[in-house]
Amino acid sequence: MTHLSISHRSADSTHIRTIGVIGAGQMGSGIAQVAAICGFRVSMVDVTEAAVGKGVTAIERNLERQVGRGKISPEVKARALAAIATGIDYALFADADLVIEAASENEEVKKAIFAKLCPVLKPDALIASNTSSLSITRLGSATDRPARFMGMHFMNPVPVMALVELIRGIATAPETFAVIHDLVGRMGKTAVSAEDFPAFIVNRILLPMINEAVYTLYEGVGSVVSIDNAMKLGANHPMGPLELADFIGLDTCLAIMQVLHFGLADSKYRPCPLLVKYVEAGWLGRKTRRGFYDYAGDKPEPTR
Ligand code: NAD
Repeated sequence: MTHLSISHRSADSTHIRTIGVIGAGQMGSGIAQVAAICGFRVSMVDVTEAAVGKGVTAIERNLERQVGRGKISPEVKARALAAIATGIDYALFADADLVIEAASENEEVKKAIFAKLCPVLKPDALIASNTSSLSITRLGSATDRPARFMGMHFMNPVPVMALVELIRGIATAPETFAVIHDLVGRMGKTAVSAEDFPAFIVNRILLPMINEAVYTLYEGVGSVVSIDNAMKLGANHPMGPLELADFIGLDTCLAIMQVLHFGLADSKYRPCPLLVKYVEAGWLGRKTRRGFYDYAGDKPEPTR
């Protein structure tokens, strides 16, 4: 009965003041930005100073844009930036009340992170993973605190998207869920609860659609532009599925399809060979400036 040892009795999350973020990529930097704007102290760590720097630059650019649009004042921007400590040393997490892991979608990478993270954490600190698809129960079992571990799946781009999917592993304590649920509200987001099945709700539905769009391209049913326009104008989607795949990152899309394929053992989830090839080529979408579109110029150009 590990959860009985947890001291948080109610849904109150006010004891959470310092949030650690692992990974300074598109999700980690977005989570750090939103947490800082909402008044939390933040520590953001990545494997290299260059990766950390990229994340900080993204946050500065986003906040500057918000200042330009009159959404926040220059003082709020300055206060948010000052609230974010960054580096490559996990010692930065020593006083964290919650650490949100948002590193690459790879189970071994995440497990190695937890092995390094747990010894530096306060005993009652919570850990959440922003994984898009991996088993929360399995990730939690790689920590020293499965009762204080759960899935906290933010959407991309974090500052814009309202949803956070909350996923309990089998060992997650009800108190952990209640505290994180309350915290999501304090971060200005809305939570939905999903069971611990591969890819949860959003990506269980979204990724097979994206994968099917890549098959549609692979089989020559339509060009990149026809497929995206078809879904934007014909299904009222704000972004075409290939445009969206580039936005998510093709490596992340492939990793999620592999988790669905393996985890649900159904051939309907097999990743499209063209998606595999793009990832093998290092064409990962916007983050590498090439995917189904080429982002080298001012305007994205379709590649097929
Ligand atoms: P990304 O490639 O932009 O960033 C990943 C970051 O993790 C990189 O900066 C990388 O250097 C860092 N990293 C790798 N190993 C690390 C380690 N050992 N310690 C610290 N940092 C490490 O990827 P992303 O899109 O930000 O995705 C991150 C996570 O968020 C994944 O689990 C992904 O599935 C999930 N997610 C992604 C999206 C999306 O649309 N891209 C949406 C929701 C959730």
